[in-house]
Amino acid sequence: MSQRKSVYIAYTGGTIGMAAGDRGYLPRPGFLGAQMARFSVLKDARMPRYDLHEYDNLLDSSNMTPRDWMVIAEDLTRNYDRYDGFVVLHGTDTMAYSASALSFLLRDLGKPVIFTGSQVPLFELRTDARENLINSILLAGDCGVPEVCLLVRHRLLRGNRSTKVSASRFMAFDSPNYHELASVGVETVVHRERHLRHPENPMTLHGLNDPQVADVRLFPGITPKILEQLLSGPLQGAVLHTYGVGNAPDDPSFLRILRDACDRGLVIVNCTQCLEGSVDMSGYATGNALADAGVISGWDMTPEAALTKLYWLLSQDLSVEDMRRLMQQDLRGELTVGS
Ligand code: ASP
Repeated sequence: MSQRKSVYIAYTGGTIGMAAGDRGYLPRPGFLGAQMARFSVLKDARMPRYDLHEYDNLLDSSNMTPRDWMVIAEDLTRNYDRYDGFVVLHGTDTMAYSASALSFLLRDLGKPVIFTGSQVPLFELRTDARENLINSILLAGDCGVPEVCLLVRHRLLRGNRSTKVSASRFMAFDSPNYHELASVGVETVVHRERHLRHPENPMTLHGLNDPQVADVRLFPGITPKILEQLLSGPLQGAVLHTYGVGNAPDDPSFLRILRDACDRGLVIVNCTQCLEGSVDMSGYATGNALADAGVISGWDMTPEAALTKLYWLLSQDLSVEDMRRLMQQDLRGELTVGS
């Protein structure tokens, strides 16, 4: 008989384990563990064995910072050798950021790390939490996908390709520019040809220091002065959310501010505001002007992947040229060059 698989569950906070309070749902220590202990299906012999680690400081994920990504990465690294797979229970609001960040922090990952959460807490009668929890534990034990993933309902998505698309539907996430990694139905189909290759080296944690990064979303009416203020100060990098295939106003004073920022060594990454599709700065004169100013292409990266990749690259000991080159390369399946 094959040995029962083992899964490490990190509970960081989020709706999935919240209790009802006077001012709405909030995380309460011990509450999720007590709910799970009453949940008989989790004791079924066909389920992997699990250990639940509840974090001391349970967070609504709106309060998460890059420091919290490091806490999760360090926790998983400490426990890496002892388990077949990992589930990270996390608030859905910033889950796509954390999953993207972990995909860069954990290099040569050889086991599944599955982020999941829910729109309604586990204790409620009608909830998405039960399905997400069971499917995540099963997949973490068995699927062998060597990636940071995000599970929502019947879809296992690549973490750094996922984004939250609904504040209320149970199907809260999508992966607009990459196929799902596994689909859960009557049968669970694991799409091996879509996964990253199994690493040859042992997993290592490549952490973050404290880079200064900004997210700048263009809008009709943004003035050169506003842009200048947004890109001023000790900033080292920015994600520029542009229109369509990567276009921005080609007003010379606007472009001069971008050029000056790039000349100061800022890494400015062009990501489209569109949910689906890719940046192609050669498509229009307005996009070409951005490339001439020194802005680099984020291709089809989600804004979450671009921002967390920027944090991560700025934390490594790299020249600005190398950061710009790596930013435009596929490192963890986060982008399709020339897509
Ligand atoms: N505000 C919650 C959080 O992100 C929402 C959720 O978990 O769905 O922590």
